[in-house]
Amino acid sequence: MTKKIPFSFTGKKVIVFDLDGTIVRLAADWHSLRNALIARFTEQNREVINFKNMSTILSKIVEMGDEKELQLNFNLMRQYELENITRNEPIRETIYFINNKELFGVSPNAKLAVFSLNFRSTILKSLEMAGILDKFEFFVGREDVRKWKPEPEGLLKILDYFNVNSEEMIYFGDVEKDLLAGASAGVESYYIDTLINHVKNIKK
Ligand SMILES: [Mg+2]
Repeated sequence: MTKKIPFSFTGKKVIVFDLDGTIVRLAADWHSLRNALIARFTEQNREVINFKNMSTILSKIVEMGDEKELQLNFNLMRQYELENITRNEPIRETIYFINNKELFGVSPNAKLAVFSLNFRSTILKSLEMAGILDKFEFFVGREDVRKWKPEPEGLLKILDYFNVNSEEMIYFGDVEKDLLAGASAGVESYYIDTLINHVKNIKK
């Protein structure tokens, strides 16, 4: 007997995925990147930043209105993300779902999108390597918003692009900030593990 799943794809016109930890596992050296960003910020501003995550630094730069410095930080981050991209690990169940979504009750007309804190080049390359790039229509990456998850800006962009209501969209991610972004946008959101377990049950 299949376990009851908490979500349904009925009426969903757009399915959105996070990238890292959801579709693939990126192999970037996040620790060195974190240190490089802190070092750069400290050098530029002669000020110690209370670093919670990479978005903290970027938000601070946005607050200062320094678009040029923001772009330089983006370049640095993108470089780290792309450096080890060939060592990505695909998450098999998610990729199976994307390739066989009709088996799971998804409408053949439903569109797929990515909403990620990684750069668009990282998203495209990762999907291409997993052989699923052509399944997706729209991407919101790090450089496409100025308020990062858990802020809902990226999801609102996706709603806007497809011109759908929040009830017609569903979002899967691997960490709490994904679900918080979903809640703020009024979009149903679930941990990817829920979908992964469902895929495992269906494949049995
Ligand atoms: Mg993630």
